[in-house]
Amino acid sequence: MTLEISKIRSDFQILDQIVNDEPLVYLDSAATTQKPRQVLDAIRAYYEHDNANVHRGVHTLAERATADYEASRDKVRAFINASSRKEVLFTRGTTTALNWVAKFAEQILQPEDEIVISIMEHHSNIIPWQQAAAKTGAILKFVYLKDGELDMVDLRDKVTNKTKFVSITHVSNVLGVINPVKEIAQIAHEHGAIMVVDGAQSTPHMTVDVQDLDCDFFALSGHKMAGPTGIGVLYGKEALLNQMNPIEFGGEMIDFVYEQSATWKELPWKFEAGTPNIAGSIGLGAAVDYLTEIGLDNIHQHEQDLLNYVMPKLREIEGLTIYGPEDNQRRGGVIAFNLDGLHPHDVATALDMEGVAVRAGHHCAQPLIDYLGLPATARASFYIYNTFADCDKLVEAIKLTKAFFG
Ligand code: PLP
Repeated sequence: MTLEISKIRSDFQILDQIVNDEPLVYLDSAATTQKPRQVLDAIRAYYEHDNANVHRGVHTLAERATADYEASRDKVRAFINASSRKEVLFTRGTTTALNWVAKFAEQILQPEDEIVISIMEHHSNIIPWQQAAAKTGAILKFVYLKDGELDMVDLRDKVTNKTKFVSITHVSNVLGVINPVKEIAQIAHEHGAIMVVDGAQSTPHMTVDVQDLDCDFFALSGHKMAGPTGIGVLYGKEALLNQMNPIEFGGEMIDFVYEQSATWKELPWKFEAGTPNIAGSIGLGAAVDYLTEIGLDNIHQHEQDLLNYVMPKLREIEGLTIYGPEDNQRRGGVIAFNLDGLHPHDVATALDMEGVAVRAGHHCAQPLIDYLGLPATARASFYIYNTFADCDKLVEAIKLTKAFFG
């Protein structure tokens, strides 16, 4: 099925604007996606009709708010195919989710135990592990790259019986590469390690089935999948979540509180202390509905079509270097690039003058950028609302930038 992009675009009013005298071409969805009217309407409807605190009240609005909040959990459960709603914890986003897993790791790790991550990880999948290693005496090991992809030989070498956690991104936010996390989970499990997947850049763009991947934890962010900011999910296998201590303590997560001690609610509420982001979760539920209706396989195919269209045109530009795998089928819709002799910040600023929004910098992946020997890169990233015309505009704006500075 080809997506009806003009129909999809009409749901995203923000795209219909002029920036620097040019129609906006938004190519920064890896940083955050735009939100369709359906998501904004759901948030507005909640505040206008149902606003109340969840789980505590017996009045009608409280019951409606609770029902909507919990319905969003069920939608996410189905979206990632978790086996139980108990395994879907609402968090602030991927960063919080990965921090929670690393906190759990502190319960388990002993000195000399090993944690294996990769050099292409986002800071949110590096720093929590550095902290866990520093607190427990565990050793943090990195898997490096081969031909712009994860070096699986290196991975097999690094994952040993000393490894207790393997934490790898599903899709790199710089290289765009789709990592074989199912295979990596298998390798981790063969060595008795716990497999964690950073799904921030995969969940919005492709079908995710956590049971098929057989990962133990999976993290995602609402704002990268057409939902609001400040909401995300940590999926965890029930048996592990039962072993995991709560991270935060307070209202909502308790069963009984005595003067000197307390007991916890059952999953998933044991982890959701305090008033949650109710509107955010409802917005995320609406985003899940929206993406499900379009179909995740269709979204992935659309981004493949855009890549197949734009990559040959980009590769023709002399002095343009693209990072990540050559084969488009091995990537999502993320293209990090540099123009010879130009700082990526200047490139991004010049593209903005043409109405083209791309990101420049280290993309919260400084170890990767250092490993590649770069100061930074520019990055264009696609989503459901991007068109072949957007691709043409990107190519044209890069050529203009080159001519201007050349
Ligand atoms: N992991 C990856 C691969 C990302 O691209 C990002 C955000 O850019 C994150 C983690 C962190 O997500 P958030 O800032 O929503 O917590």
